[in-house]
Amino acid sequence: MPEFGKIGFIGAGQMAEALARGFSNGKMIKFEDVVATDPTEARMKVFKDLGAQTVTDNKQVVEKADVIFIAVKPQYVGVVLKEVRSSLKDNHTIVSIAAGVTLAQLKEAAGDVRLVRVMPNTPCLVGETASAMCLGPKATDKDAEMVRKLFSTVGQCIQVDESLLSAVTGLSGSGPAYVFLMIEALSDGGVRAGLPRDIAQALAAQTVLGSAKMVTETGKHPGQLKDMVTSPAGTTIAGVHELEKGAFRSTVMNAVIAAANRANELS
Ligand code: NAD
Repeated sequence: MPEFGKIGFIGAGQMAEALARGFSNGKMIKFEDVVATDPTEARMKVFKDLGAQTVTDNKQVVEKADVIFIAVKPQYVGVVLKEVRSSLKDNHTIVSIAAGVTLAQLKEAAGDVRLVRVMPNTPCLVGETASAMCLGPKATDKDAEMVRKLFSTVGQCIQVDESLLSAVTGLSGSGPAYVFLMIEALSDGGVRAGLPRDIAQALAAQTVLGSAKMVTETGKHPGQLKDMVTSPAGTTIAGVHELEKGAFRSTVMNAVIAAANRANELS
């Protein structure tokens, strides 16, 4: 029996594929230990071509797998869980990645089973997600460790209390959009200063990637890293001054707070 048993996917869309590929690339699972279902033929074919078993009925996923990822759009989560509820047993861990579907809603639909709710973000599709998970009352430390280990193949997964998930949504859930805006703005600035568009965009994206890596790899405070590149009366401090005039930091903070508040309103 592989370490994680069989992994099931109810809904074999973009996120399910990104997760399954990551788990396999990270050597956590083999595709032969994956079972997936989806009403769309094309999505079933993707999983079949990867070497996974595909089935035509959500219940069959539950019968064959131990860890079951619920990877359908949020509005279908209740429907699919109610469908498989009678087949759920003690050996099952249900991991929902659906945005905004609470543990209480999952429990109402699935019953009192081992539930884990994960809030991933879009960079999951390129193996660099910043995710947070919270555990239902029946989920164990072993479940948490297993989910953390699996998600380490597609980025990171940090455990939080469910009450913090709206804040997570405001920061890492919505955060990629803020960073895309930043990359676009950096590129526009480069073009305004005379660079061709393709060069400006490549430099902007790599600057964000490299700067993020410096934060994670040095463990230094971002303010310290900023101080290291701002020489007296130099070019960088001139740029930083303009950002401060535009209230850059409080604008970004307000964006996180607005998205977190919106997530609270929606849940
Ligand atoms: P997707 O549309 O690519 O995949 C969903 C799949 O579910 C589709 O292939 C669809 O055919 C299938 N499906 C629909 N009804 C079904 C049913 N009754 N039984 C089984 N399968 C069914 O969507 P996605 O982007 O992979 O998103 C999946 C989940 O991940 C969503 O709940 C979303 O909130 C969450 N999520 C996505 C992202 C992201 O970046 N895409 C980020 C965070 C969370």
